[in-house]
Amino acid sequence: MRSTMQDTPLSITRILKYGTTVHSAAEVVSWTTEGPRRRTYAEVGRRAAQLANALRALGIDGDQRVASFQWNNAEHLEVFLTVPSMGAVLHTLNLRLFPDQLTYIANHAEDKIIIVDNTLVPLLARVLAKLITVEHVIVVGPADTAPIADAGKQLHDYEELLAAQPDTFDWVEPADERDAAAMCYTSGTTGDPKGVVYSHRSIYLHSLQILTRESFGINGDDRILAIVPMFHAMAWGLPYACLMAGSTLLMPDRFLQAEPLAKMIAAEKPTFGGAVPTVFADLLSYLDSHDVDTSSLKEVVIGGSACPPALMAAYRDRHQIDVIHAWGMTETSPLGSVSRPPAGATADEAWEYRKTQGRFPAAVQFRLAGPDGNLVPTDGVAVGELEVRGPWVAGSYHGDAAPPEEKFHDGWLRTGDVGMVTPNGYLTLTDRSKDVIKSGGEWISSVELENHLMGHPKVAEASVVGVPDARWDERPLAAVVVREGEQVSAAELRDFLAAKVARWQLPERWTFIDEVPKTSVGKFDKKRIRARYADGELE
Ligand code: ADP
Repeated sequence: MRSTMQDTPLSITRILKYGTTVHSAAEVVSWTTEGPRRRTYAEVGRRAAQLANALRALGIDGDQRVASFQWNNAEHLEVFLTVPSMGAVLHTLNLRLFPDQLTYIANHAEDKIIIVDNTLVPLLARVLAKLITVEHVIVVGPADTAPIADAGKQLHDYEELLAAQPDTFDWVEPADERDAAAMCYTSGTTGDPKGVVYSHRSIYLHSLQILTRESFGINGDDRILAIVPMFHAMAWGLPYACLMAGSTLLMPDRFLQAEPLAKMIAAEKPTFGGAVPTVFADLLSYLDSHDVDTSSLKEVVIGGSACPPALMAAYRDRHQIDVIHAWGMTETSPLGSVSRPPAGATADEAWEYRKTQGRFPAAVQFRLAGPDGNLVPTDGVAVGELEVRGPWVAGSYHGDAAPPEEKFHDGWLRTGDVGMVTPNGYLTLTDRSKDVIKSGGEWISSVELENHLMGHPKVAEASVVGVPDARWDERPLAAVVVREGEQVSAAELRDFLAAKVARWQLPERWTFIDEVPKTSVGKFDKKRIRARYADGELE
C-alpha cells in the first residue's frame, strides 16, 4: 500500500528560502583584518538572488559546475546557498591542494565558473590557465588581478556583478531531490582524487541530523564557530544546519592560527565550534599561556582524525569545554558517528564513551568486515574494517563507470578504517587499514601509540608509522615533536609507553622533528612520514 503523504522535494532551495526569511535577523560574521564584518541572513538571501541572476547572465542555466575557491566567509555562504538553489552544482575546491591535483579536479568536474577570494588570486594563478573548462572567474573583494589576467578567462568583480542585478530570483526546486547539489573531491591518498556528488536530499537529511541533540545539537541560540573549512566536506554541514536553525555563523576567513581564533572567541562568544585535532591542539597551547575569555564556548566537535584523549581532557579540565569526538569522511557527507555518552552513564563511564568515535545515527547502518571480507561480530572485541550504508553515504564516484571494488562491498562503502563496535553501538577505531603496523603477523595500532605519547606532558605532537623491518616485516617508528622549552629522550618516552602497551609494541626507532607534516586538511600526513623513513633507517 502506498502512503497518502505528499511528496515534496527535500532541497537546499528550501533551506535557502526558509533560513533567509524565517531567520532573517540571524547573522553570519566574517573575520577580517579590521575585525568582524556582519551580515544578516536576510541580506545573504537578497545577495544570493543577485548572485543567481548574475550567474544566469554568465550562462549557468542547468547543472553546470560553479566552483568556489574561498575561505569561510559570508560570500562563500552566499555561494553555498545560491548555486544548488538555481539548479547548478557547487564544487568546493580545496585551496591547499597541490597545483596538479587542483588542475585534475577542476577539469574532471568540468567547472565552468570559479568564484575566488581576492586573497587567493595568487594561488589560483598557478593553475588557472590549465583549467580548460573554466570560462569565467569572479573575484570577491578588491584584488590585483594581474596574475590571472593572461589565463584566457573572463574576469569579473563579485560586488559589481551583484550590484547590477535585482535582489529577487525565481529559485529552482530540483526536479528530483536526488539530483546533484554539490560536489567535493577526497584528497586521494592513493590514485587520483575521487569526486563525491551530494544530492539535495542527502544534504537536507544530513543537515537535519546535525541539528539533533544526538549529533551536534545546534539551535537558534547558538553561535557556531565554523573553523573547519567549507572546502573540507562542506564544513561538516554546519552552514546549512545554521540556516535551518537560525544560529549565528562565525567565519574565521583565513585567520586560522591560534591567536586570531582566540581573539575571535573572546570577541564573538561562540557556543560551539568544530575543527580537526591539530587546530584545537594549537589553540590549546595558546589558551594555556594567555588569558582568554572562552566562557561562552561550552562544546566543540573534533573529528577528521582521531582526537587524542589527552587533548579532550585538557579542554575539559583546564578550560571547561566539552569535546565531542566525531568520525566521518567526505563520502559520508561527512557526519558518521558522534561520541555522545548514553543516557544514565556515570561521569567515569561517560568519559570512556567520549573517547570513542561514538555512535551512528539511526539512518546510517554499519558493519565490520574481517580480513577475508566476511562480517565479524560487533561485540566490542572483534576487529574489522568499518563498512557503512545510508541516505547520505556515497554509493559511487563522479565519472566512474562502476563503483570501484576497493571502495565498495555489496553496496556498502568500505571506509578503510579498522576498529571495533560495542553491542550498544560505540565505534572505536584502532587505525586506518593502511596505517596499521603489521609486525610479525600481529597488528599494532599506530593511533594507540600516538594517543599515549601525546598524553606525555613534554610531547606536543607524535606520529607513529610502520617502517620496513627485515625480521618483523614492519616495526613502529615514532616521530615526536617536543613541547617548546622542554627536553625529553627516546628512552624516557619508551619507559613511559612501556607502562601502557605490550612490550612487543614498543617502538625501537625514534626521531625528533620540528613539526609533523600535515595533509591539505590538517591531518597528520603519514604517507610523507613513511616515505621519509622508507628504508627503515633514521636520518
Ligand atoms: P581524506 O581521506 O582525504 O583524509 P576525509 O577527510 O574524507 O578524506 O577523511 C576521512 C578519514 O578521516 C576517515 O576515513 C578516517 O580515517 C579519518 N577520520 C575522520 N574522523 C576520525 C576520527 N574521529 N577518528 C579517527 N579517524 C578519523
